Amino acid sequence: MTTQSLTEQQAVELLHTWIDENTDAMITALQGVLRIPSLEAPAESNAPFGPTCRQALDYTLQLGESLGFRIHDDAGYAGHLEFGEGEQMVAALGHLDVVPEGDGWNYPPYGAEIHNGYIYARGSSDDKGPTYASLFAAAAILNSGLQLRRRVRVVVGCNEESGFGCVRHYWEVANNERPVAAFTPDSRFPLIYAEKGIAGLTLSTAISSASNGLTISGLCGGRRPNMVPDFASAVLTGPADALQSASDTLAGFWDKNISIEHTGNALHVNAGGKSAHAARPEGGDNAIARLARALASLQVKEWASALDWINRTSVTTGAALGIAHTDEVAGPLTSNLGLIASTEQARIELIYNIRYPVTWSFDLLLNNLNPVIAAAGWTLDAKSDAPPLYVPQDKEPVRTLLRVYREETGDLESQPGTMGGGTYARATPHAVAYGAMFPGGSDGPAHEPNERIAITSLVKAAKIYAHALYALAVAEEL
Ligand SMILES: [Zn+2]
Repeated sequence: MTTQSLTEQQAVELLHTWIDENTDAMITALQGVLRIPSLEAPAESNAPFGPTCRQALDYTLQLGESLGFRIHDDAGYAGHLEFGEGEQMVAALGHLDVVPEGDGWNYPPYGAEIHNGYIYARGSSDDKGPTYASLFAAAAILNSGLQLRRRVRVVVGCNEESGFGCVRHYWEVANNERPVAAFTPDSRFPLIYAEKGIAGLTLSTAISSASNGLTISGLCGGRRPNMVPDFASAVLTGPADALQSASDTLAGFWDKNISIEHTGNALHVNAGGKSAHAARPEGGDNAIARLARALASLQVKEWASALDWINRTSVTTGAALGIAHTDEVAGPLTSNLGLIASTEQARIELIYNIRYPVTWSFDLLLNNLNPVIAAAGWTLDAKSDAPPLYVPQDKEPVRTLLRVYREETGDLESQPGTMGGGTYARATPHAVAYGAMFPGGSDGPAHEPNERIAITSLVKAAKIYAHALYALAVAEEL
């Protein structure tokens, strides 16, 4: 029997068999890339997001070449692996960069150790694991010699977590070919047809010294706008008696997540919290808010208004910013106060990461925000916006991807969903997010300590992705 006369079911059986036979190779390859701490760093030659992102890209392209793909390096921003013939192309798009590991790990965050059937590492579920599941899914089709109508491409980017500089270069600067259908394995199954808008806001205000000479001479907190901050600290300076009195007050403050430390002529105030993804900030514990409450206990009237604002606007509904809003497609706005810093001009700077409803707009958000911040004495220094994504459920590739998920899993209950996180899908034509988190599964959590992926999930995702890429690559019309 030639592969041309195979039914979809027979083809899928070949793909599943290839994945079962190559599971060990997939795990070993994934462990290798998980051991590269591909965090954004200052640009170097041919490495726009730093050397470790470059290393993860090189590793992946070399792997692709060894699996038989044609490879392409988009100047270190992104890359792709492709095979097949045909005018059109279908694609999976994943990312190789990770967010900082943070604290609280039971296993080394870049060890990729296997315990109880899970691979533990930063990036295991977001997004190296799902990306490698897609890569091996494509390799299964390539190595099974199946006949296709379209080329199959796996795109890997290196800057998903901190600005989408990768896909922006890949599409807008390098003007790479657009897929006719695509998915990004960077969310959950069955699939995501709506993603909230993502806004970034930088606010600042002046902060003066207290009447007793106490000065906030340094503030810092948070790692990224898109993570709930798990630490924040302030350095207080001033006359010895004012520092001593502040120290006594803070030593008696109720919050056990606050610690103080005298060094020379300064008092360091440190707050701890719990990190979480900014799309679900209610699952975290904001250290900047804890720091603001502790400093407010010093009852310095020159600081009271700013500290009260910080505390109130750390509430994740956005109500204190005047921008609480919801719709029926993807639910309520969420706000994350992700970063605090002091600037040279005796100002405090705050950076918020906002996820707004898919039927709202950034202009409407700003209309509500502006009078509130003006009245509170803050200024809007910088803003950014990634508009929402919303693909109706009766359109391709949603129909095919949903059918494949249901055939592969037998799960007819779970419905396509919406999210506050932003994936490559919003930057890519004809794309939605598709896995790799399973309903009720225990993979992840993304951006938190002890991120993990079950080997069974990895294999199951690879089988779904192989089936999906095959179905999209042979479909008569898309
Ligand atoms: Zn991701």
